[in-house]
Amino acid sequence: MILGDTGFLACRECKYSILPLSIESHFRRTPHSVSPEIRGEILSEAKKYPSLVRDISGIKETEIPSSLPFFFPDLALYSDGLACQDCLYITRSTRGISKHYRESHDWENPRGKGRISKTLKTDVPWKSDIPCQQFFRSTPGKSYFRVNPERPFSGRETRPRRASLTEDNKIEEEAENHSESSRPSLRDF
Ligand SMILES: [Zn+2]
Ligand SMILES: [Zn+2]
Repeated sequence: MILGDTGFLACRECKYSILPLSIESHFRRTPHSVSPEIRGEILSEAKKYPSLVRDISGIKETEIPSSLPFFFPDLALYSDGLACQDCLYITRSTRGISKHYRESHDWENPRGKGRISKTLKTDVPWKSDIPCQQFFRSTPGKSYFRVNPERPFSGRETRPRRASLTEDNKIEEEAENHSESSRPSLRDF
């Protein structure tokens, strides 16, 4: 499933983003274990979207949003985000948010290092229980972003962008030779 114009592709079952390069290995392994034919179909379907982020350097260059007015149903949705009140930083671990406050906002934990527990929510400067999502589970691209859990993203809101690279143009031309109706859909996997 393509995540709008983010350039990311998500596995609907695993609920996180995968790179086109990983399609083959991702769908070969459990829990998917799909046949080589189907993997080939998924891969060629992905090639029809020249704007997809293809490798790690692409993730690094892509600006991860800090908040969105909707959520992606194809990504895991968390309701336990911890949000910085001074900037848009958001994470899900108390250790992470206190590190952020210390490093970015010169905050000193009045209780000393590592003494924060969830029962002390009112003593801390950040906001709890913030709905959030992330594209990838590891860096780069694992930053969380705030979402609106009331409004699911509809894929119809955006369409794939035009390619600028020569190689991508070639892929796009190939894609145009297929009729719309005969395309297998990534949604089926
Ligand atoms: Zn998966
Ligand atoms: Zn901050």
